[in-house]
Amino acid sequence: MRRRSEQGVCAMSEPSQPGAVEQHDAIVIGTGMTGVYMLHRLLELGLDATALDTAEGPGGTWYWNRYPGARFDSESWSYGYSFSKEILDEWSWSEHFAAQPETLRYVEFVVDKLGLREHMQFGCKVESARWHEDEQRWHLVLEGGRRLSARFVFGALGVLSAATPPRIEGRDDFEGEAFHTYYWPKDHEVELEGRKVAVIGTGATGVQVIQTIAPVVGELVVFQRRPNWCAPLHNSPITDEEQAEIKSSWSEIFGRMAETHGSFVHGVIPKSYHETTREERLATWEENYAKPGFGVWFTNYPEVFFEAEPNREYSEFIADKIRGRVNDPETAEKLIPRDHGFGGQRVPLETHYYEAYNLPHVRLVDASATPIERITKTGIETTEERFDFDVIIYATGFDSFTGAYDRIDIRGVDGLRLADKWKDGPVTYLGTHVSGFPNLFVLAGPQSASAASNFPPSIEACVDWATRFVAFAAERGVSRIEASEAAEAQWVADIETAYEGTMFAKAKSWFTGYNSNVDGHDKLRHVMFLAGAPAYRARLAEVAEHGYEGFELG
Ligand code: NAP
Repeated sequence: MRRRSEQGVCAMSEPSQPGAVEQHDAIVIGTGMTGVYMLHRLLELGLDATALDTAEGPGGTWYWNRYPGARFDSESWSYGYSFSKEILDEWSWSEHFAAQPETLRYVEFVVDKLGLREHMQFGCKVESARWHEDEQRWHLVLEGGRRLSARFVFGALGVLSAATPPRIEGRDDFEGEAFHTYYWPKDHEVELEGRKVAVIGTGATGVQVIQTIAPVVGELVVFQRRPNWCAPLHNSPITDEEQAEIKSSWSEIFGRMAETHGSFVHGVIPKSYHETTREERLATWEENYAKPGFGVWFTNYPEVFFEAEPNREYSEFIADKIRGRVNDPETAEKLIPRDHGFGGQRVPLETHYYEAYNLPHVRLVDASATPIERITKTGIETTEERFDFDVIIYATGFDSFTGAYDRIDIRGVDGLRLADKWKDGPVTYLGTHVSGFPNLFVLAGPQSASAASNFPPSIEACVDWATRFVAFAAERGVSRIEASEAAEAQWVADIETAYEGTMFAKAKSWFTGYNSNVDGHDKLRHVMFLAGAPAYRARLAEVAEHGYEGFELG
């Protein structure tokens, strides 16, 4: 039976009786894009479900990342949920690549439209989750001691939600304002105009921050350890005609996305690199460089992703673009990656990012050549120089995929800790289940296709599959589902094999779970399903059609 919970109860109330346990059929942890859709589907099944979030509102990524310039790199209209025609018809994006405030409003709109808010509890930090074999239920304890229990737990924690500030000596000594981009202050406007600002980090986040604040700050020093390959976003408002066109083309748009490797509207060029002339390639690449979105990455000859020489040639094409946009040749060379080819790491899309370095008050410091030694009361010291700042912005990324899970004390059968099981990298079956952790669904997480694709379509695929599985379990009177060790081992082996020979295999980025600020995560790990979203969906469907092969059902 479905029950209602009061919004925000976590932060405000204690359990009615000391030690009382709030009972549910299902608990979803997280109210980002994944948690919202999962909660909706569970309620549709008629289950008593609640969703918990540390935040004070839904939105996940879009709730937290409020830094200047935060916006989509996927076309807005390809990012919304596809499951509801009504939502598609009623919501209109204002730009082809919407900014964070609009995306947060979108998630809130969906939550209200579906009547989900009353089933969400905010200000709830889950500290532990334990499997009780005798009851075949999970027991959760929240910060502050509140207890909840459920048959099924759905981890909708996100793959980029455990923010990692840099491990630099003296970080707490700084007397100005300093924050990680994920925790950009919500309660006050950060004064940047005319001030001396440092940005550490040049991933997709750093790039968006730098290009946005460069024109307004008094002085900007960017500390770049390794550059990324960036390419133009070419954002623009959606005109009325385009809006009408988009709204009458949903089946074509989602149909196209269903076919592409990464569930984007951009697919590969169906022609071999080796069958083209250099002139033809250059003309195609010029065209793509001038177009909006990820076409500049994905609409390419397949060999550019897999073969050294085609990748080198394309990387050199992009390097020349950088050289053409940055006035100072020395700065331009510093901005060109040397340790990985184009696409080996996530390609940030930018708007006048490279031109920011032409402003007289913007400076690039090569933090590989002259590493940051410490943060002081007044600024940053490198091996060569001392800098004073009013504000330091850490755009230093996330403990990807497993970080958010590691922060909760999750214990399965016989007290096995998930963080221990995953200490050398995630181990899953289908990227949705972990042997030893019955009735725990890990949604759109490690070893799924989610991060290797446009998130929402993969989220929908994963949530729809989980919904079917729960309905199947209910129909068959199954109260315990667990991935078998053998199926898990095979999945992990397949994931590892798919990494072999790819550009991702050696890249030190969150695509390989690399993070220099987390103990043990400076080793490259196999965190993504790389065979593509269509192959991933096909595998999920196959498992379901074969009676959920690879699972032990009890
Ligand atoms: P990131 O790509 O992991 O970049 C982190 C940056 O911080 C890197 O440049 C890294 O340098 C640097 N760094 C980390 N620790 C450091 C230290 N101790 N000293 C100096 N530099 C340090 O993280 P992100 O930029 O937050 O992006 C993560 C992902 O979020 C993106 O790839 C993207 O998928 C997603 N995102 C999406 C959007 C969008 O849709 N538009 C926008 C923002 C983010 P090294 O490279 O040397 O490690």
